[in-house]
Amino acid sequence: MTRYAPYCPFCKSYDVCEHTLLIVDMHWQSTEGGALAESFHEKFENASIEGVSALDPIEYFRDLVREVSELSDAECEFVNEGGPGNSTLGKAFYTSDPKQVFLLSEKFRDEPTLSK
Ligand SMILES: [Zn+2]
Repeated sequence: MTRYAPYCPFCKSYDVCEHTLLIVDMHWQSTEGGALAESFHEKFENASIEGVSALDPIEYFRDLVREVSELSDAECEFVNEGGPGNSTLGKAFYTSDPKQVFLLSEKFRDEPTLSK
């Protein structure tokens, strides 16, 4: 079954909800919402500026996504319809407990992705 929107398994929402940690577009390496979106964007941009991801920004983007994936309780993939031939893969990550969102967001922000 193909999804065309992110879907939260906890509150059955098709939009950004209180469980949403991050929604990304894997093709455009862009963030589209969620509590971690700002930190994610910042980490990605900083790495670009520092030249860390200069060799392979796609790989670094995936590393960041993997990190969010480890923090999340559920995730889903969906198709971002961008017109004919322009559909891309979207991913969304959720936590089961909205009270954890702030903690997880801090954890993600402070975790040095590159030291792995
Ligand atoms: Zn939800």
